[in-house]
Amino acid sequence: MTGDEHQQGAHLAVHGLEKTFQGGGAALTVLSGLELEMNRGDQLAITGPSGSGKSTLLYIVGTLDEPTAGSVKVAGTDPFTRDESGLADFRSAEVGFIFQDHHLLPQCTVLENVMIPLIAAGGVDATGEERARSLLDRVGLSERSGHLPARISGGERQRVAVCRALINGPSLLLADEPTGNLDQETAEGVGTLLLELSEERQAVLICVTHSLELASRFPRRCELTAGRLVDVGAAE
Ligand code: ADP
Ligand code: MG
Repeated sequence: MTGDEHQQGAHLAVHGLEKTFQGGGAALTVLSGLELEMNRGDQLAITGPSGSGKSTLLYIVGTLDEPTAGSVKVAGTDPFTRDESGLADFRSAEVGFIFQDHHLLPQCTVLENVMIPLIAAGGVDATGEERARSLLDRVGLSERSGHLPARISGGERQRVAVCRALINGPSLLLADEPTGNLDQETAEGVGTLLLELSEERQAVLICVTHSLELASRFPRRCELTAGRLVDVGAAE
């Protein structure tokens, strides 16, 4: 751990996190007293039954949803003290999301899809395009940069989504069942990319997955149960 991290605490620090959904009569508490600390370069796989709050946790860490109580700090400051446009800036600079469905724009090419987050971050310039091309090269898709998403395979689309998530150099890489729609072999390749790229960039990687095979490749694994994260040992 560097001296800076000693002074500042973990890059991501979540304490006493609570999330209760209102509506439809009864309130539903999904997260309760959840604790999580991660330094840059840390990689965590989260498993847990459907409905246990895994996506809710990722959305809150990524500031797409607000906690009911508790604190979330990134690099020592609470992003939720920002106004709506400040939050959008925070997400654009610090957060890369990868979902089960790639959410690529069908009318845009592979290269254009990777560059879309540059627009929110201040515009597309030559260096932005260069970064997009080098990311596509890194994931083995240089030859596909001019294709539309419909013309590439499911695994390739997910690799494009990984590039798009990384284009602004986020410190938090949040993946919600990123291999859920892929066959075993393709899933393995996407999992490898997430692990390698987050390490190269020293991003915090949090990956929700149903795949015990994928989870077993992470240095740290937790199960989300009863609203909290519980560390689980090496997969049997
Ligand atoms: P997981 O990703 O682990 O399957 P989720 O985080 O998506 O679980 O959801 C946890 C629980 O919270 C579920 O019971 C879900 O129905 C509920 N939930 C999620 N989002 C909302 C919402 N916006 N309003 C009400 N309930 C929600
Ligand atoms: Mg989910």
